[in-house]
Amino acid sequence: MGLQDVLFPMEVTDEQLHTVVLLMDAAIHEVSAETVAPYLDKNFPREKLDKYLEEYSRPSKLKGFKELLREAISSNTTPTQTQRDFRFLGASLMSKLAAPIFTNSLKTVPEMTLEEREDLLKSWRDSYLPIKRKLFAIIVTLGIVGFVRLATDLHNAACGYPGRDTREKMYEGHEKSDFRYEMMSKPEVEGEVLSLPDLDVLIVGSGAGSGVVAQTLSEQGYKCLVLEKGKYYHQSEYSFNELEGTALYENNGAVITADALLIILAGSNFGGGTTINWSACLKTPFKVRKEWYDDFGLEWAATEDYDQCMQYVWDKMGAATKHINHSQSNKVIMEAGSKLGYAVREIYQNTGGHKAHDCGMCHLGCKHDIKQGSHAFWLRDALKNGCQFMDQVRVLRIVHKNGKATAAICQNTQTGIKFTITGPKKFIVSSGSLNTPVLLQNSGFKNKHIGQNLKLHPVTVVFGDFGKETKSEPHYRAIMTSVCTEKDDIDGKAHGAKIETIVHTPTMHHVFFPWDGSDRSRVHLLRFNSMSSMLIMHRDTTSGSVRADPDRPEALIVDYTANKFDRGAMLESALIAADMLYIQGAEEIVAPQSHTLTFKSQKPKEERRVDDEDFVEFRKRMANWPIEIYGTRMGSAHQMSTCRMSGKGPAYGACDTRGKLFEADNIYVADASTMPTASGSNPMITTMTIARHIGLCIAEDLKSGL
Ligand SMILES: Cc1cc2nc3c(=O)[nH]c(=O)nc-3n(C[C@H](O)[C@H](O)[C@H](O)COP(=O)(O)OP(=O)(O)OC[C@H]3O[C@@H](n4cnc5c(N)ncnc54)[C@H](O)[C@@H]3O)c2cc1C
Repeated sequence: MGLQDVLFPMEVTDEQLHTVVLLMDAAIHEVSAETVAPYLDKNFPREKLDKYLEEYSRPSKLKGFKELLREAISSNTTPTQTQRDFRFLGASLMSKLAAPIFTNSLKTVPEMTLEEREDLLKSWRDSYLPIKRKLFAIIVTLGIVGFVRLATDLHNAACGYPGRDTREKMYEGHEKSDFRYEMMSKPEVEGEVLSLPDLDVLIVGSGAGSGVVAQTLSEQGYKCLVLEKGKYYHQSEYSFNELEGTALYENNGAVITADALLIILAGSNFGGGTTINWSACLKTPFKVRKEWYDDFGLEWAATEDYDQCMQYVWDKMGAATKHINHSQSNKVIMEAGSKLGYAVREIYQNTGGHKAHDCGMCHLGCKHDIKQGSHAFWLRDALKNGCQFMDQVRVLRIVHKNGKATAAICQNTQTGIKFTITGPKKFIVSSGSLNTPVLLQNSGFKNKHIGQNLKLHPVTVVFGDFGKETKSEPHYRAIMTSVCTEKDDIDGKAHGAKIETIVHTPTMHHVFFPWDGSDRSRVHLLRFNSMSSMLIMHRDTTSGSVRADPDRPEALIVDYTANKFDRGAMLESALIAADMLYIQGAEEIVAPQSHTLTFKSQKPKEERRVDDEDFVEFRKRMANWPIEIYGTRMGSAHQMSTCRMSGKGPAYGACDTRGKLFEADNIYVADASTMPTASGSNPMITTMTIARHIGLCIAEDLKSGL
């Protein structure tokens, strides 16, 4: 037990929670009807305005908010240090002695007025002390995102967001299949041993890598069993409510780096990341493959073998641009790119040849059964060849002796019952780049690359507000259908940021929107439908790490702080994004760095040029304002490289170029964690390409009895 546990023992108390929520109230609270009236959706029933403002007023008055926060803080998946920090913060802000350190005032937080608390948040935001900026980032992000996730129906009506997808068909003649997976039943007695001597392969995880490897091996006649810790949802069971949809994500969408700088999204459900990803298909850039060949000895990455594997997964998922119907944000990229001469192109979608996929809600699953992820295609194809599945089973450890795995220790995530599976010839870990290394570490493997070299493709967002008359309705268009590659290689080594578009829903929008007081946030909540959001997605040089919390085995500790080069590269692309928004007529541009970095113009779109004096002045300010730690909201949906492959032996990686772990003869890794460095392009296709290659190698090994 540490000193902090002695000083601030036990669970989070009601008073501590209340004190923190008081600060969250300061981030967003009551607003006058006059302030919001001009921004209400035109179909909003005006007679309900007072009721709306009263029922959706501030976090502390919102039903379920405190419970949500308490649950998040005390969850088994929240690292111990985060829990300690929260208790410490709550207790300090209530204490006459400690509060002044944070508040510069003799008042404790509960003694402050709402205005004083809002000013306190602003002072933290602008502080030169990183700890205060960190507190600001945590309070505002958690406060506003929780508030938006609990949005009432009236709020959705006020901002013109349907709240869920009510469409049953994507296009005339679209027919959904009524296919349903059957899950294998799980042992019901603690300690039971499930002996499966006929099983060729046990696959841990059911995401991008797993789907392809299961399909490849099943097709060749090998018996596979896929274990997934998340739940299987039939496509009709996906909820298009943002709060309920968090069940599809690792830690309910709340994995945060240890320094609280970056929010990480990863899928955790039957289908993994492919269930909730945004359908974008991009091939591995040539320079990245060359780097893997040159620096890590991945000979196959430089051969036709790689191309064939990539083409195989590409064709199987029907990657196409044919029926793309760009959203407003994607149009900004395509049209501004051609006007300004920036390198832009359409992004292929894994929509299996369907006529249309006008759905901006892929991040909550594909109820239309169009997106060809593991759930909709790969595992279904594997099933045809006898593959079996078990959901809600976490593999805790792989038992091994003398370099040979013999069993997997599993736990039913619903009942807590532990059981053992024995018999498989091979064990494949496809648990994603956050969990694969943790499972291997917990199993006692020691290679120094396991859990290191974490790449995240950090992202931030530049916003453009296109004015009251615009209603972009992004939820009725595919999410990410265009990319600008103008600055995605600024060092000749494929490091740089692509400009793409973010899933455009109220929650995602507010994770990244810079905070500048409650009133502005309230207006912005209502304006999300008139905004375009340009995602700045960078191929990182920074390396982080991931490991299990020793006190809470289910919690992940992710260390990662974007370095100066990476932040500078993101800024370069953010400037290009600003050009694009300006030339396309945005009335307001909001830079990612800070609250005050905004630009307004009423100049008609047709008369604009990027050398307009006022825009040039803004661009200079933006270029001179670095993307600083805690100054900019950052996120990631791409975790990679934590069990990197190497053709140069264990000093350079955790597994060989066939995916085989250096420390065991019959354990393979087949997911994004095997990439030696970041993929540069969005990683689904690269992950699947590698998994196809590994699947073929395992088939060879099985055939030759290795
Ligand atoms: C919101 C979002 C949007 C994205 N959009 C795109 C996109 O448009 N295009 C693109 O190219 N990429 C996209 N990606 C990235 C892409 O989906 C991932 O890179 C890819 O899914 C990674 O595959 P994987 O096999 O490494 O792991 P995952 O697909 O993450 O699968 C790992 C699975 O293993 C399970 N698991 C973990 N530990 C255990 C255990 N101990 N026991 C049993 N099961 C376990 C997890 O629950 C999870 O389901 C997106 C990702 C996210 C999060």
